[in-house]
Amino acid sequence: MSGAQKPLSLRPHHGLCIRYFAGKGYSEAFVQNMRQVIARLQDAPEQPVRLRAEVDAVCTACPHNLQGACETAEKVARYDAACLTLCGLQNGQVLPWSAFAGRVHQNIIAPGRLAEVCRGCRWLSVCLAEQAE
Ligand code: SF4
Repeated sequence: MSGAQKPLSLRPHHGLCIRYFAGKGYSEAFVQNMRQVIARLQDAPEQPVRLRAEVDAVCTACPHNLQGACETAEKVARYDAACLTLCGLQNGQVLPWSAFAGRVHQNIIAPGRLAEVCRGCRWLSVCLAEQAE
């Protein structure tokens, strides 16, 4: 990991949203920002990410981000907690994006636990369809 790179703030469950992003989202601005975040991580897999259960780089352009507070904070905090627990990671931990994506794959995606983590998410059917392809 390059010590010179500033960590990118990322909600833990967004490791799953990024994996299954299919160009759909809460608004056009949200989709554009999501594409930029994904491109940044794909271009630099060693980019460090700081896993924080709070509004992040993805939430920046979200219409549900009300001055730094998610409208569905309780629900997404549950997704974040489940993601961290299954991946064996801590809130606030910093690690390379590639290492985090690997943990998400190994501990949630490969064992088929996506629906368990994201229960109640309006996008779950989209992500499950992506997974089935
Ligand atoms: S719904 Fe909440 S957690 Fe999801 S992108 Fe919007 S502000 Fe962030």
